[in-house]
Amino acid sequence: MKKINQIYVNGAFITPHGTETFDLISPTTNEKLGEVTLGDEMDTHIAVQAAKEVFKTFSKTSKEERIAYLQKLHQAVSKREEELIAIMVEEYGGTYQFCQASVHIAIAAFPTMIETLQNYDFAKTVGQSQVRMESLGVVGIITPWNASNGFICSKLATAIAAGCTVVIKPSEMSAQQTQLIAACFHEAGLPKGLFNIVNGLGNVVGAAITNHPDIAKISFTGSTAVGKMIAKGAVDTMKRVTLELGGKSPNIILDDADFETVIPMAIYGAYMNSGQACIAPTRLLVPASKLDQINALAQATIAHVKVGNPADPDTHVGPMVSRKQYERVQQFIQIGLDEGATLLTGGLGKPAGLEKGNFVQATIFTNVRNDMRIAQEEIFGPVLSIIPYQNDEDAISIANDTTYGLAAYISSPDLARANRIASQIDAGSICINGFKHDPQAPFGGFKQSGIGREFGTYGLDAYLEPKAILS
Ligand code: NAD
Repeated sequence: MKKINQIYVNGAFITPHGTETFDLISPTTNEKLGEVTLGDEMDTHIAVQAAKEVFKTFSKTSKEERIAYLQKLHQAVSKREEELIAIMVEEYGGTYQFCQASVHIAIAAFPTMIETLQNYDFAKTVGQSQVRMESLGVVGIITPWNASNGFICSKLATAIAAGCTVVIKPSEMSAQQTQLIAACFHEAGLPKGLFNIVNGLGNVVGAAITNHPDIAKISFTGSTAVGKMIAKGAVDTMKRVTLELGGKSPNIILDDADFETVIPMAIYGAYMNSGQACIAPTRLLVPASKLDQINALAQATIAHVKVGNPADPDTHVGPMVSRKQYERVQQFIQIGLDEGATLLTGGLGKPAGLEKGNFVQATIFTNVRNDMRIAQEEIFGPVLSIIPYQNDEDAISIANDTTYGLAAYISSPDLARANRIASQIDAGSICINGFKHDPQAPFGGFKQSGIGREFGTYGLDAYLEPKAILS
């Protein structure tokens, strides 16, 4: 059994003051994998003081020095690629395919930020003024369990590029992955205190970060509910916040699309990370006149969707991260049935032969109305809602009829038509004809999907404070 009983503070793995423990449970078997000793407010405070001390010198470093640090981190993380993938699969039951892609994105965060930094102007002339972009200070980074390494690497890379120092609080459910990432960062030999990792619960370490007067900014990725708590708490010390929150992304299939191609893609997309992805296209908007044809294609696709052992590279849908998440998804399937949506495939209960883990049947509801809870709320599991629409205006109106606005997807060979629709959709990222990732493009949400943007220059701006000097 693995015991994670150290946190990483001021350049060393140390025993936390906190004594409470958290059980790491395998999502695939529900057996205990290990135990993590949780840090507390005192550990958070010590980590913040270490980050504050090194900020005095680190914020003065040149672009070239920061680039050299990012290169070292890139080398250290690249060497552990396979280990990182294996731990993700074991720890949270992510499918091998998804974890591999996620670790690639984590590793790529460093060269991508180097490119951004090389082209970034920290001093510009605006009107009559000199504007200097100055490092904000100590940044608190709070991350979720899903694709946790990617978030930690991209947020840390941006902080370093900006001359900021960090205290990271990962999800308690991703302690093993974070321990390995901490070992990589340690190996890279960065200045002591530049990054600190404190394992702990959200309402203890997360809250201590939110309230700490010496933290200048919080970069948070997680649920909208927790994001709101952080935003409220951060106001007292006027911390800057970047909040990457939940989503209920529409996938609009226009009537001229090649259904045979785009419907299978839409289903595999909705099931990315077993449906536990903020950007998953969980509302499939289809022309009402084509509903029967699309239902048949969806049924045919589902026969090829493999639910099972996440370590198997052919698996598309693994277990839910926890028993609690499994139960939440079951509740939503029941809600869909109670609301009168038509169950096309899947449904309640575990798939045959997978009773030990937190497995959910790959589920599709059709004839869903957008005001149903299964269309409005983030389920975070392999549950797709097919929603018919009458015409393009109706599709746009349904797509925007949500409190979220993280991502949206449009399929059509007519790019002018797709772009016209994209310009009317309220979402931070819109992909036309496929699932695309551009690490230089701003990423973030409209409405209750968040505040601020990450990646590229937009992401870097958010770790800096503009100072205008008028002479
Ligand atoms: P969560 O909000 O429950 O937890 C996220 C982090 O916040 C964890 O580290 C948790 O310990 C911490 N936390 C909990 N309570 C806190 C508090 N009171 N104060 C400070 N920190 C606290 O989310 P989760 O279940 O880990 O992840 C799933 C959610 O994350 C989904 O809603 C998903 O959409 C969202 N997400 C968003 C993005 C994005 O980029 N927009 C990406 C991935 C996940």
